[in-house]
Amino acid sequence: MTEQLEPMPTDWRRALAVVAHPDDLEYGCAAAIAGWTDEGREVAYLLATRGEAGIDALEPEKCAPLREREQRASAAVVGVSGVEFLDHRDGVIEYGLPLRRDIAGAIRKYRPELVVTLNHRDTWGGVAWNTPDHRAVGRATLDAAADAGNRWIFPELAESGLLPWNGVRWVAVAGSNAPTHAVDATAGLERSVKSLLAHRTYIEALTDEDPEAYCRTFLTDHARAEGERFGGRPAVTFELFTR
Ligand SMILES: [Zn+2]
Repeated sequence: MTEQLEPMPTDWRRALAVVAHPDDLEYGCAAAIAGWTDEGREVAYLLATRGEAGIDALEPEKCAPLREREQRASAAVVGVSGVEFLDHRDGVIEYGLPLRRDIAGAIRKYRPELVVTLNHRDTWGGVAWNTPDHRAVGRATLDAAADAGNRWIFPELAESGLLPWNGVRWVAVAGSNAPTHAVDATAGLERSVKSLLAHRTYIEALTDEDPEAYCRTFLTDHARAEGERFGGRPAVTFELFTR
């Protein structure tokens, strides 16, 4: 029998999800977020870019506001109203102090116990090369969870009113090659389809399939495959780093 994943911790109130692009959370993670907001937990999103380099036929300055709107609509479907965008450039996000500082500032602002991010490793499952944006944001988020708690790292944040927050207990990495924990996706699965579908302009540029059928098939198959290690229930999996 395949080794089973642990259920995610439930003793927390606030989460902040930090990713590079609009749609990063919707490709697999949003069903978990819908379940969390159903339970009365607060979840906010922080996006490093507006995904302005994501649609070949659309120039970045036209693409950015459109994808921002689609991301806000997508978040609302799963009960998330707080959506913030940093001004890093899509496709060329650099891992470094400015990115760590921006994420640490958001962690101080939202004071989450749980931080969620996306696969920070070189590959997806050892078979597909990951993008530099995902690697940079994932790694900077794991680092910023600690930065946020140290008043001597980025002291300019405290000077602008963002006081240290050392309350992050876990960073959960979605899309990891080495998941340790999972959330039952059953209750949130249908809303996760609607949430991904809210990125309609992006999806329509990506595939000739019917957008809704594409979203439903992708997310349902994904949740079912992930669930093989979670008692056979459809699941969203995470690699959990405890602090
Ligand atoms: Zn992405």
